[in-house]
Amino acid sequence: LGRKLNAALSSLGRAPVVDEKVLDATLKEITAALLESDVNVKLVSTLRQKVKAKVKAALDGSDKSKDINRKHVIQKAVFDELVNLVDPGVEPYKPKKGQPNVIMAVGLQGNGKTTTCTKLAVYYQKRGLKSCIVCADTFRAGAFDQTRQSATKAKVAYFGSYTETDPVGIAAQGVAKFKKERFEVIIVDTSGRHKQESELFQEMVQIGEAVKPNMTVLILDASIGQAAEAQSRAFKESADFGAIIVTKMDGHAKGGGAISAVAATKTPIIFLGVGEHLYDLDRFSPQPFISKLLGLGDMQGLMEHMQDMAAQNPDKQKEMAKKLEEGKLSIRDWREQIQNVMNMGPISKIASMIPGLPQDMLAGSDEDASLRMKRMVYITDSMSAAELDSDGSMFTEVGKDGRPTGLTWRVTRVAKGSGTTIREVEELLCQYRMMANMAKQAGGKNGWLQAMQKMQ
Ligand code: GDP
Ligand code: MG
Repeated sequence: LGRKLNAALSSLGRAPVVDEKVLDATLKEITAALLESDVNVKLVSTLRQKVKAKVKAALDGSDKSKDINRKHVIQKAVFDELVNLVDPGVEPYKPKKGQPNVIMAVGLQGNGKTTTCTKLAVYYQKRGLKSCIVCADTFRAGAFDQTRQSATKAKVAYFGSYTETDPVGIAAQGVAKFKKERFEVIIVDTSGRHKQESELFQEMVQIGEAVKPNMTVLILDASIGQAAEAQSRAFKESADFGAIIVTKMDGHAKGGGAISAVAATKTPIIFLGVGEHLYDLDRFSPQPFISKLLGLGDMQGLMEHMQDMAAQNPDKQKEMAKKLEEGKLSIRDWREQIQNVMNMGPISKIASMIPGLPQDMLAGSDEDASLRMKRMVYITDSMSAAELDSDGSMFTEVGKDGRPTGLTWRVTRVAKGSGTTIREVEELLCQYRMMANMAKQAGGKNGWLQAMQKMQ
């Protein structure tokens, strides 16, 4: 989906004049991409109309010769409407320290509930909240074994029974026990069965009444497709969930169904499951998600990762946060981030969050991607200390009017020293500049950084 949306917007970028015909063509491409990804038909048609109305209103008064502005208007309208699709404007529940927070997971069997419960426990545990899992799936043979194994692997406490057949009793017992032991995040895993049947919904209601969850989460498989709307509505009626987690976003699933579920139930997505391992859980928020979808990078996700990394070195973290806030990111800081990323595991996953890293950087295997990043580090290795601490402007020659006229001798020297080409050095500088600009936007009073800190 991302690639297609991206292509639609870049072909817009190449159009010599931006008139209604170009707008229609762009919208047609975007509509097709969304429909192909199983976003609900009605939602797509509404989006199309809204973008069109917005763009028309903005363009009617604007100067027809200024096509750059017009392109920008279209891009912004598309971006905003896509964000609206995944943003119901509702704040999800946030677990608080020093009190029990009961989270109940619901959803059909196979959607990834048990896996996600463990991931959630690990996520909160890592953030200092004492976390545990209660297995209230007495329907499926082997359910408790699965919980026991994954919880043991994740080093989180768990509760369940091999013999008890009453899910409501087990849930109540487990939650009571963990509350007494002062656990802060108590996650209740439920059974899902194969179909939506009245017994299942009755069970949800009864467990809900017994454990009084602070938040109920619907676990939805990304591959659900057009069935998402009906299924999420049915669960909403009986198990009034306040958040959605979409799993298997790493697979070939098109994910559009999940977007429809948000719209149908006016409930926010809080996490995405992106793999089978314990840490394959990404925090979700609408703007960065769409930004990433459109190939614009995910500054917020990147900073979260950086903060996690920096947690081991608080001084460094303070320094980096200050630099980001002031929008003063030198080439040296940037290189440090690239190196951090290289130490953070599968490159393909993390590199997609870095704005300014071209998508083709991620092509091929993780090894290829890692080699390309290493090359970037080699290039910066050939820079002098003054160059590394700069904002890169000393690499560009400027004329009397302050406009760039060419590259300085420094570029040639760095290319020679690192065994790369002038072109590669130029590209690296260009990527750094994009990153520095994003950092500038992220900092400041209205930046993402502030928004992010407020969230925590
Ligand atoms: P449950 O029946 O709802 O409890 O689902 P499970 O947690 O048992 O998961 C069903 C299958 O989906 C298992 O094989 C999981 O490993 C797999 N799974 C769950 N979440 C993800 C995910 O985010 N990505 C991938 N690739 N597989 C997942
Ligand atoms: Mg399960």
